Amino acid sequence: MTRLLVYDTMARRKREFTPIKKGGVRLYTCGPSVYSKSHLGNFRTYVFEDVVKRVLMFMGYRVRHVMNITDIEDKAVRAAKGDMKKLIEITRRNERIFMKNSHDLNIIPADAYPRATESINSMVEVIRKLERKGLTLKDGRGNVFFDVSRFPGYGRLSRSRFMHPLDKRVYKDDYYQREAGNFALWKAWKKSDGNVVYDTELGRGRPGWHIECSAMSMRYLGTPFDMHMGGVDNIFAHHENEIAQSEGATGRKVANYWVHVRHLLMEGKKMSKSLGNFYTVDDIHRMGYGYDAIRVHLLGTHYRKRLNFTFAGLRDAAKELERCKCCARSLKQREFWEDNPEVDELTKKMLAEFEGRVCDDFDTPSATRIFCSFVCDLQEFIEKRKIGKRNAKSALDALCRMDSVLGFMH
Ligand SMILES: [Zn+2]
Repeated sequence: MTRLLVYDTMARRKREFTPIKKGGVRLYTCGPSVYSKSHLGNFRTYVFEDVVKRVLMFMGYRVRHVMNITDIEDKAVRAAKGDMKKLIEITRRNERIFMKNSHDLNIIPADAYPRATESINSMVEVIRKLERKGLTLKDGRGNVFFDVSRFPGYGRLSRSRFMHPLDKRVYKDDYYQREAGNFALWKAWKKSDGNVVYDTELGRGRPGWHIECSAMSMRYLGTPFDMHMGGVDNIFAHHENEIAQSEGATGRKVANYWVHVRHLLMEGKKMSKSLGNFYTVDDIHRMGYGYDAIRVHLLGTHYRKRLNFTFAGLRDAAKELERCKCCARSLKQREFWEDNPEVDELTKKMLAEFEGRVCDDFDTPSATRIFCSFVCDLQEFIEKRKIGKRNAKSALDALCRMDSVLGFMH
């Protein structure tokens, strides 16, 4: 078996993957914040995470995958104007769209999608543990903060060199490195929260965003689990804070591998509503492109490089995909000739090359190229009438095995 190399953000290098428990892998991926619809850039991350899971399954691991749904945080409370009913309405609607688009893009569903609003007790428990360990600070209004000065190694994941003392308090869920400080675990009720509030032993309020993922990952996967994934924008502060919270509470490491996906550009520019180049997956689909072609294009750039999503690239992806599907169909239906050892050799070689590429830090662009060139070569054998029935069957099996990773042909 080829060994799997994974670029680990914590180590800043590729490391050989070994699961904690033989045969099984526990994977946590940060899920959507459903105050609004997930956009194309979010789905670059989710589609890639799906490939990671598929590679692990391809290698014979059982994967337990948990993805949280962030249905409460500053932006959601703002979007709902502090009305709990409205918050649930908005977040459930966007969650449904997220699930639909995940299905459209052929993403294998997670084993659990815990919602933050349904995990409040677990969050309170973790915060209480941190309090008992003396890792928290309280202010006069009932806000509870994580005291980063009590956690040596804060900044280890993001390799942050903090330019100022970290004694100030950060109340916001989302903040930049230069604003780093003691971050909010529990936010005491304030007027703009309206009736979005929980009465707990910590008082009236709501959780901070970062504690959500610590509580849900530990509840569903324990510590340490094998792999934690997300977009690069999560490295600081979200994942840095998650490490502080989970390690602070348990004394154990969170995850053995941290994997982060880079951003997407739209026609060379940052996607933003003000530039008018902001797209959801459905926006693109309504323009006449297949979800499968979108998936091909999203995987066409290595996950550690910025992806430039272009309509020309998408059209090429659609054409390539159609050609592959056409060949796969003819392998199923065509009459055959005498079996040819050359075809078997090619099949074996292509499958080995494919495995080598996906196991080298999930090189999806090379894997896609191998898949397509294999299809091309098979087409040639068909045209020359130099392929037998048994040949075709094993070639088709190999294509299926490759597609169990790529997920293009559904
Ligand atoms: Zn998260």
